Amino acid sequence: MPGPDPVPAAVLAIVRCPLCRGTLAVRTHSEAPAVRLACVACGREFPVVDGVPWLTPEDALKA
Ligand SMILES: [Zn+2]
Repeated sequence: MPGPDPVPAAVLAIVRCPLCRGTLAVRTHSEAPAVRLACVACGREFPVVDGVPWLTPEDALKA
């Protein structure tokens, strides 16, 4: 299980969705990738691997 703070708040404060520049929020799922950053604007999700957000359009998961 991921910890309560899988992505540091300092990171969340600066990262943006690469597709629409919306802000991102941590979302956890039961299936892999379990930790993702979800764009609050367009709904796309990006995997977080070992605490590192993969914020490239190619890594975007369908909402
Ligand atoms: Zn977006």
